[in-house]
Amino acid sequence: MEIIRGIAVAPGVAIGEAVILNASDYRIPYRTIESENIPSELERLEQAFAQSIDELSKQAELVNIQLGRDAANVFQWHIGVLRDERLRQSIVALVKDQLAAAAYAASSVMRDYQRRFMQMSDPLLVERIRDVQDIERRLLRNILGESREDLAHLKKPVILVAHDLTPTQTAQLAESKVLGVALDAGAATSHTAILLRSWGQPGVIGLNDVSTRVSGGDTVVIDGTNQIVIINPNETTLKEYEAREVAFVRLADELDELRDLPAETRDGVRVQLLSNIEFPQEAASGIRKGSDGVGLYRTEFLFLRHEGTPSEEEQYESYKAAILGADGKQVTIRTFDLGADKYTQQRSYEQERNPMLGLRSIRYSLQNLDMFKVQLRAILRAAVHGDVRLMFPLINSLMEFRQAKMTVHDALEDLEEAGLPCKRDIPTGMMLETPAAAIQVTEFCREVAFISIGTNDLIQYILAVDRGNERVCQFYTASHPAVLRALRDVVRACTRAGIDCSLCGEMAGQPMYTLFLLGLGLRKFSMAPASIPEVKKLVRLVSIAQAERVARRALSFDTELQVTNYLCDETRKVLPEDPI
Ligand code: PEP
Ligand code: MG
Repeated sequence: MEIIRGIAVAPGVAIGEAVILNASDYRIPYRTIESENIPSELERLEQAFAQSIDELSKQAELVNIQLGRDAANVFQWHIGVLRDERLRQSIVALVKDQLAAAAYAASSVMRDYQRRFMQMSDPLLVERIRDVQDIERRLLRNILGESREDLAHLKKPVILVAHDLTPTQTAQLAESKVLGVALDAGAATSHTAILLRSWGQPGVIGLNDVSTRVSGGDTVVIDGTNQIVIINPNETTLKEYEAREVAFVRLADELDELRDLPAETRDGVRVQLLSNIEFPQEAASGIRKGSDGVGLYRTEFLFLRHEGTPSEEEQYESYKAAILGADGKQVTIRTFDLGADKYTQQRSYEQERNPMLGLRSIRYSLQNLDMFKVQLRAILRAAVHGDVRLMFPLINSLMEFRQAKMTVHDALEDLEEAGLPCKRDIPTGMMLETPAAAIQVTEFCREVAFISIGTNDLIQYILAVDRGNERVCQFYTASHPAVLRALRDVVRACTRAGIDCSLCGEMAGQPMYTLFLLGLGLRKFSMAPASIPEVKKLVRLVSIAQAERVARRALSFDTELQVTNYLCDETRKVLPEDPI
């Protein structure tokens, strides 16, 4: 049994057989086995060789038919390498003599093999390195277990273990049989993590090398609540987790009963809890979980399932579906937040040295006005179907906001000329996500219809910590006193100006911050729909006076540790049984 600690993306327990998803480059750490496991390790190796040769023979046959013998010879060469008795014996020797795990033994011998090609002076032979890498990957995939790039084809419920998932792969999870996810890479606010959270099943990320420690077929427990992954649990642990799995389902059912009750504090103050959505169909599922509407529709995820830029008609249909799904409740559509870690079609982008400080969000839209106008037209047309607001991401200066609004006017003129029905007076607001916007909030309040605080980005820019980089994720925290004070000032300025202010970063869905945020005066939160029931439960158990006390005290601390400990303690007093 092995326990690894990471970062949770969604609470709950999932138990199942592991499937390892192909990594583009396996890095296998040195791992040893017990001597009594040598025969089974050698058997695993033998099977992986046989399976690899079988796959390659089929591939060679196919290529022979499609492209001819010369092309097929490439794969014949691969087969030849795998049949090389000396190579195989070197791997077997490492397992037998040094008790190396099969994956490590294979990887280390294959890397030696690559090095030999690297030293050759004939450029044609140097080219062979790529082939050897390819053989290594295939062999490792067959040693480490079943691997499917296409998650939709999984036949039984499994735990997915991978180095990382692209947002596209993550988006496929909802239609797959995956019960839970464990990833090497990741930070809590990366877009993969956000998508995992909206998927709602238990997940732990930032586990460094879990994908090489687990073999396909191992039993894996994902404990999203305690942020751990257990590989091959012993019998007692497995029993304990099976019981916890049942208890968690019971808690979810209990929370379900809150669905039709309002999020109202003990002293009768109504709080709005809305959903952050990535796909239109989530608007309706959020409402089913008891949400008051959509506070953030991340439209850039339209690009994920699309080969090129989505057309105006396609966008219109998606926005309309979300608006109708919200069933008359408010929907705030954010224009594309592309760039940084959310690329459109990656190949069309130049790599930037500092993408988080680069051409992203509203900057990208304002430099691609044709694309931006198409989107605005689609939103303005769809807006006639409900209560819709328009929001720009990462507004950093008044000029940017004005320019974006001017583009809205242009789009409206186009639509009127074309005689298409559209919403003329759409409330237009901004996401407050940068220190510059926070410092200038009073000026913004004179021009915007509303402000939504995007703490995911605001925290990364205030603290100068890349939100997607697991190497610095320990420095990324909403509890930093500088973040708390910035939030206090922004909410205060909006309240004075009478501007509708909400918060839509991940912080909104973390119960430990609910009391603090209520105490600052916020009454509108937007979060992953899965977080709504727990936050609602908490809101209904507290009073505003209590929240104000907590906020005042939290603001008096000097360090994030004090803040975190204090807020956790206060929250635990209200929800003693629930995991926070
Ligand atoms: C944010 O930055 O807080 C936010 C909600 O936007 P995103 O996570 O999509 O960048
Ligand atoms: Mg953001």
